[in-house]
Amino acid sequence: MACDRDDIGIDAERAWKLLIGGEWVDPAAGTYPVIDPNDGAVVGHAPEATAAQAEDAAAAARGALGVWRSRTPAERGNRLARLADVIERMAPSWLDLVQAETGSVTSVARGLQVGRPMIERFRYYATPINADADVAPVGAEAGALGPAGLMAATVKRHPVGVVACITPYNMPLVSVAGKIAPALAAGNTVVIKPAPQDPLGVLLLGEAVAEAGFDDGVVNIVTGAGPEAPAALVASPEVNMVSFTGSTQVGARIHADGAATMKRVLMELGGKGALIMTEDADVNAACTGIATTWRLHSGQICTAPTRVICHRSLLDQTTETLQAFAARMKVGDGRAPDTIVGPVITEAHRDRVEAFISSGLEAGATAVCGGRRPHRPGCFVAPTLLVDVKPDMAVVRDEAFGPVVVVLAHDDDDEAVALANDSCYGLFSYVYASDAKRAYEIGSQLESGNVALNTVQPHLYAPFGGFKMSGIGRDRGKWGIEAYTEIQAINWLS
Ligand code: NAD
Repeated sequence: MACDRDDIGIDAERAWKLLIGGEWVDPAAGTYPVIDPNDGAVVGHAPEATAAQAEDAAAAARGALGVWRSRTPAERGNRLARLADVIERMAPSWLDLVQAETGSVTSVARGLQVGRPMIERFRYYATPINADADVAPVGAEAGALGPAGLMAATVKRHPVGVVACITPYNMPLVSVAGKIAPALAAGNTVVIKPAPQDPLGVLLLGEAVAEAGFDDGVVNIVTGAGPEAPAALVASPEVNMVSFTGSTQVGARIHADGAATMKRVLMELGGKGALIMTEDADVNAACTGIATTWRLHSGQICTAPTRVICHRSLLDQTTETLQAFAARMKVGDGRAPDTIVGPVITEAHRDRVEAFISSGLEAGATAVCGGRRPHRPGCFVAPTLLVDVKPDMAVVRDEAFGPVVVVLAHDDDDEAVALANDSCYGLFSYVYASDAKRAYEIGSQLESGNVALNTVQPHLYAPFGGFKMSGIGRDRGKWGIEAYTEIQAINWLS
């Protein structure tokens, strides 16, 4: 049933525009509908930018670079602090729209999509971080290049330049904030290209940027359903860096396409998070963590603990506990107060997740819960737990990006580590063990950019990024400034 989302006060006929060089510009390639995955209602008509408009945005960012990078870190920080204040005031009015386009349940929409995590990313980088560094002096021998003496050097950090920030659909505002806050703090200008499925909240963020008093062209936003606009940014010689979050497949394509113009890249890609449980693990705590794969945005989270590696002695207890948790999770419309598991983003994605589950069942897995489409129309996938899986099955190796958990058994820590590392991904892994030292020792052996011990919570300012096919580079904290700067060594002889 397709209708417009006017029923909850969203103006589905609003004429959304692109933000280029401080102006709101009509899209040259028309618009496309943004759909509420709960019921197919039209939330709005998003602008479809052409490749030429993406290039205009890159040129505008280039034009603004000189002024923005010459502002002091404190001046840039003041703008970011002001932006955080403006967003904090405006964000409650964004809630309905962002919830409709993302399909988030209310707690996720309020707490994550338009809540503090986005605002804090701007506040954090409002305080300048000095990533310059000194290098210890060394004695220099006399030689062909000059006389003997004491060589000193210092390291300065310069903004990379124009950064294209290309983001995925799951947490549109938080993803964008996580990129542009450090990029702007470091003196770069940006072109944002949000995901096709839920770009409207990011256009509202553009309004906050305008109100916060950024120089024209410092922040630009282009949207589109097709790959033309983001591909143009990747190819553009005006763009120095692509900061990408999304699938490994598209990340690899961007890396290849950007090579001709020697793009700097920050790549935050797919994951298949392992969660190891030792025989003394607190099963209830571990299962509460595992169940976030189901209840946090229907598993559309790159860091979700989707691959449980459970000590054989705890297998039955773990399976039964998870089954009981899943039975209590109502699947349904994200706006209903008792819904725990909302829709996945599109029907096409639901079909992908269903095909993923079917491939596991055909290969011999057993669905302890879920595995079948819930009895309701729409993009819904029931919390699914697959057991009797083998390490070489696609359900163990590939990312579902949906509410699907698989369970493997291990007999000792070495086997657990080997199973966890038997993956092309290495984004976020977890260890649940009662002995903290043992948890730390297991965690240190994991080929994973991030490891959490007895929790599934990340530290917001610890470096974030992936080993292997999960990405290149790190951001957050001071690593965010490092990611968006070029290092320059200045050497002198004394
Ligand atoms: P996606 O890779 O399909 O799309 C991401 C972005 O890439 C979109 O904005 C899209 O328009 C753009 N794009 C598509 N083709 C392009 C091209 N040829 N050139 C340049 N840009 C192009 O990802 P998705 O489906 O939106 O998101 C899901 C994926 O994102 C999952 O794999 C998930 O693990 C990953 N993800 C990773 C992180 C992380 O921090 N590592 C966070 C969230 C999501």
